[in-house]
Amino acid sequence: MSLLEVSGVTKRFGGIVANAAISFAVADGELVGVIGPNGAGKSTLFDVITGFYRPEAGRVRFQGAEITGRRPDEITRMGIGRTFQKLRPFTGMTVLENVMVGALLRAPEPAVAREQALHYLELVGLADQARAYARELSTGQRKRLEMARAMATRPRLLLLDEVTGGVDQRSIPGLVGLIARLREEGVTLLVIEHNMRVIMSIARRIIALHLGEKIADGPPEEVVRDRRLIEAYLGAHYA
Ligand code: ADP
Ligand code: MG
Repeated sequence: MSLLEVSGVTKRFGGIVANAAISFAVADGELVGVIGPNGAGKSTLFDVITGFYRPEAGRVRFQGAEITGRRPDEITRMGIGRTFQKLRPFTGMTVLENVMVGALLRAPEPAVAREQALHYLELVGLADQARAYARELSTGQRKRLEMARAMATRPRLLLLDEVTGGVDQRSIPGLVGLIARLREEGVTLLVIEHNMRVIMSIARRIIALHLGEKIADGPPEEVVRDRRLIEAYLGAHYA
């Protein structure tokens, strides 16, 4: 049985088809990359899986149970965590408190949530910033904070949306190392990544989206040779 099963998911915004009958399955323990040009429908797909949008057609199943149309908090509780492309930490809270918000989903009391939050801050390399306010963090550090908050909800499946997007070049290797580290924690990962070199280095399977459609799904070395993908990134002229 697959951990996650997406079948025929279609999501429209007015005349725009952001997701067009997308189907794929993710097995327990996989790290699957999701690529595609801006506007391909990647973030929308995450929004559908995590219950922020209800698809017009199709289904999402998690651990065998249908979760289509369930509320985001129910889906988080079932074991799907996510980070957001557009970061929105609680800027008036400390770094520790931000992660405690995630941990409180399951922790029986604040003291336990605090303990767990500290553990995940350690994991992402932000332990020294625990008492800082979220607004004081750099973009790279905010991405780490997002990952700690999401991990604190104890997901079985974690969706990461452009962890290296918008951070300075020097911060990228550390973030990539951290993604690999999360996998060692036992979470299955679905990773949206704009940087092709980054995704090639961590994923053994890549799903490519273009204009809402899934155009490729396979090992990185096959996917990068896919004619439709090359066209999508470079224009038909180059292909
Ligand atoms: P990606 O993450 O691959 O860059 P998105 O999923 O954000 O792509 O967007 C896919 C398409 O859906 C784009 O054309 C985008 O403009 C459109 N879209 C996304 N969210 C909304 C929304 N809330 N309202 C209207 N259009 C949207
Ligand atoms: Mg996006």
